[in-house]
Amino acid sequence: MRVVLLGPPGAGKGTQAVHISRAFEVPRIATGDIFRENVRNETALGKEAKAYMDLGDLVPDDVVIGMVTDRLSQDDAQKGFLLDGFPRTVPQAVTLEDFLASESRPLDVVLRFNVPESEVVRRIVNRRVCPKDGSVYHLEFAPPRKEGLCDECGTPLVHRKDDTQEVVLHRLQEYHEKTERLEYFYWERGLLRDVESIGPVEEVTRRTLTLLDDVEGFSDPNGGEDAA
Ligand SMILES: [Zn+2]
Repeated sequence: MRVVLLGPPGAGKGTQAVHISRAFEVPRIATGDIFRENVRNETALGKEAKAYMDLGDLVPDDVVIGMVTDRLSQDDAQKGFLLDGFPRTVPQAVTLEDFLASESRPLDVVLRFNVPESEVVRRIVNRRVCPKDGSVYHLEFAPPRKEGLCDECGTPLVHRKDDTQEVVLHRLQEYHEKTERLEYFYWERGLLRDVESIGPVEEVTRRTLTLLDDVEGFSDPNGGEDAA
């Protein structure tokens, strides 16, 4: 099960990734995590990335791609993976496609989590976080046991200044502008499938798993269409 996850901030992609990862026993590979891991372990790529970040520069594509392909080559990713946060651009998608083709293990599906704008705003504006341990709460869907306090450590929760309607709508617009061509790239290849991320988390999970069972059932174990 080789999957790329797409979806705007607030679409619940991260939460679903955890459930899919458990159900299919494949690792969730999030770009942010491998970044931190490489920097922490002081790998060659990690050091290179850190040099750019220290200067406030964007980490160049070849460094990012190097970290992702390294991660995809590890043992636990051999039977599948969920890529979350990569690729972000068409050139990155092309590189990923070439890399996977060279190992005869092409992507099975690209899941796009869709959610109405109003729902994203509702999810994000009511979010509260613990400044100490990063626990995330939601006033409506996942409130803390004691009002305003972190369940884990009792620290007063904060409303991040970016979690406002104005910022959220701006981020969504930016996301769509940046992602449109990537979505088209995968749509053209017949890989793009939509998940409606509406309703309770468990319902969305059920929908997602059903879709993936479908994809897995129909996929050719010897590798379907290869971009040769
Ligand atoms: Zn806490």
